[in-house]
Amino acid sequence: MQEYLKQLNEAQLAPVLQKDGAMIVIAGAGSGKTRVLTYRIAYLMSQGVDPFSILSLTFTNKAAREMKKRISEIVGSSEAKNLWMGTFHSVFAKILRFEADKLGYPNNFTIYDTQDSQSVIRSIIKDMQLDKDIYKYKKVYSRISSYKNSLITVKAYNSNPELMEADAMAKIPRLGEIYKAYVDRCFKAGAMDFDDLLLKTNELLTRFPEVLAKYQNRFRYILVDEYQDTNHSQYLIVRALSDKFQNICVVGDDAQSIYAFRGANINNIFNFQKDYDDVKTFRLEQNYRSTKNIVNAANSIIEKNKTRLDKVVWTANDEGAKIKVNRTMTDGDEGRFVASTIFETKMNEQAHNGEFAILYRTNAQSRAMEDALRKKDIPYRIYGGLSFYQRKEIKDVLYYLRLVLNPKDEEALKRVINYPARGIGSTTIDKIVVAANHYGRSMFEVIQNIDKIDLKINSGTKTKLKNFVTMIQSFQIVNANQDAFSITEHVTKKTGIFQELKKDGTPEGLARIENIEELLNGMRDFVEEQKELADANGSLAEFMEDVALATDLDNEKGDDDKVALMTVHLAKGLEFPYVFVVGMEEDLFPSGMSMSTRSELEEERRLFYVALTRAEKQAYLTYTQSRYRWGKLIDAEPSRFIEEIEPKYLEYLTPITEHRYKPLLDVDIFDDVDKSKLRLRKPVSGSAPKGPSQEQLRKLRRLKPVTSDTDKNFNAADANLNVGTLVEHVRFGKGRIAKIEGVGADTKAEIDFENGGLKKLLLRFAKLNVL
Ligand code: ATP
Ligand code: MG
Repeated sequence: MQEYLKQLNEAQLAPVLQKDGAMIVIAGAGSGKTRVLTYRIAYLMSQGVDPFSILSLTFTNKAAREMKKRISEIVGSSEAKNLWMGTFHSVFAKILRFEADKLGYPNNFTIYDTQDSQSVIRSIIKDMQLDKDIYKYKKVYSRISSYKNSLITVKAYNSNPELMEADAMAKIPRLGEIYKAYVDRCFKAGAMDFDDLLLKTNELLTRFPEVLAKYQNRFRYILVDEYQDTNHSQYLIVRALSDKFQNICVVGDDAQSIYAFRGANINNIFNFQKDYDDVKTFRLEQNYRSTKNIVNAANSIIEKNKTRLDKVVWTANDEGAKIKVNRTMTDGDEGRFVASTIFETKMNEQAHNGEFAILYRTNAQSRAMEDALRKKDIPYRIYGGLSFYQRKEIKDVLYYLRLVLNPKDEEALKRVINYPARGIGSTTIDKIVVAANHYGRSMFEVIQNIDKIDLKINSGTKTKLKNFVTMIQSFQIVNANQDAFSITEHVTKKTGIFQELKKDGTPEGLARIENIEELLNGMRDFVEEQKELADANGSLAEFMEDVALATDLDNEKGDDDKVALMTVHLAKGLEFPYVFVVGMEEDLFPSGMSMSTRSELEEERRLFYVALTRAEKQAYLTYTQSRYRWGKLIDAEPSRFIEEIEPKYLEYLTPITEHRYKPLLDVDIFDDVDKSKLRLRKPVSGSAPKGPSQEQLRKLRRLKPVTSDTDKNFNAADANLNVGTLVEHVRFGKGRIAKIEGVGADTKAEIDFENGGLKKLLLRFAKLNVL
């Protein structure tokens, strides 16, 4: 047996050695599913399978790169380079580059990002003179996106009365028209959006049997990671491509299906057996990632879901520390707790920044974490926020480059036609847009023919327009003979972008120049890397494709030693020694928007399972008692997920807060009830509590805002607040009102607090209890 196969246990070895046929590996988190795929590819190659005929689809491009790296270590890098590996989007974008002309698209089609798509939709809504508060562009976009991912084309939509009715019920009866206009405009601009990359691939494979046959023959072995999160469109592609040889291996975990909201279909896993002949099913049970405590705690969580496959996950790893649960007063305190815990752990356990991850349910939660990390000088990196390629100055350059490749690209043209300013105003641009829509031509073509159409544009402006076209054409000539780096350098100089930023002179302007330089550096590396490959030459087109599909996670530089901040969704498949899951509060995690049905709540629970199972050594769950949400300070209560974990796996650093508005927890009301029947949470765990006593806690829990914060007619006297009144505040403790000023909603009080000194509070918001 080859040496590397010894790094697998028996259960993992079976699907690796099973060379042919359809197989599915279903197993819990951390049991080596991704490792099985990696080693299976290495093994196939050692059995003489040509790497060009192996297609492996992963959840992120980063995962693909890591797999490739590992495979290179086993079989040598020259062979591994030729594997087809990446996300669905990146692999099929590449295939569409070869085949797009069959669908009437230029082979140099642009890939519209979400912002581009939303901007097109916004302008359609405007042109159709629809109410933008009803036809919200983001809502319309996600609706269209979900249709595309279910393969519902405009035509299919229009022949489906149920869908039309559903949209009419949602008060957007003209969605079909917007959908059609959107598809037309993208087509005219020679652009595909993200969903098109899958939709058009499906179209290609169904309409052109010879193309299907070609790729079926090419991809003799297909492997898919995270199969539980494939959507219908992805499912059909895999199904079609693997239909001939049926050498397909998918791995997944139904307990980690977390993208239903984006159309992922967990049934793809359940139905796999029916889709192929003679399917072999493998199960892995041993977790290698986490301590016993974490594995068992995660098991105790996922058991609460009704819809799930029964799976065993155990580990031979150490017992490990208990999961630490911490409560704070505010999200600022929560950030400080996380930052100082990281600081201490680094000192006590010689840990590196890169070993820590902070996971949250929503991106907005990162701010408090960032503030606290910065104060402690802990380097961090946020994933999934604005990526490098989304920055303004970078986009400006990239949109020029897009236009060079595809002059029909309208979003690109609109962005750069007057940047840097060259005297082409918005009235002129509007006229061109109208003419382009009228003639069914691109804006670029309209400008090229500007002398032939009467648009009432003065001759000075016409010259400027013509100069712009000439400039872009001159870039195209340069691009034909140069690599990505050279053309980009040329563009930044000739367009005047560099000069514009230099002129700016502010620190921001300087930072922008540095970013553009960084872009150029990245391109130089890219060109060098590509030139080593057999089937690439470092062209601009290759670079732009990489960029269009780059996610923030993909651009991670391995040498960075930084704390990772990201949403739980993004953390799927990753692992870190220390993991903080922050914001463990009702309505946040589980999300308030996903609690109306059992299946939504179960998806939230799976998300929590994913979060917890990222941790190798130590997991922390933190929550706060109050949090600003949508501009309001709200009372928060601990997430039900904390109490769903068997208590023996938890260690409370602060006493657990009981739920406030569940009556069965309010001991005072139930004084005459048999208390043994109440589901009271264990009080403070064994070790001496550091926080307030149970009595204090009970008191704190009863604190309520004196009036509702929407009450415009606030009246201090009605709320029994007068100069001299003794009050208690959630954070500052006891205090006496020294002064009251202002009226109604603006009433403020100066209060002399025992713990906080003199504070001025807006009474409408202050959480005071009259003593
Ligand atoms: P997830 O469900 O989170 O995607 P997974 O099932 O894909 O997890 P892997 O990421 O492949 O699991 O493996 C988890 C960890 O365990 C990795 O660090 C991996 O290298 C390690 N591992 C897997 N199998 C073995 C093994 N047989 N011996 C030692 N380490 C292993
Ligand atoms: Mg995995």
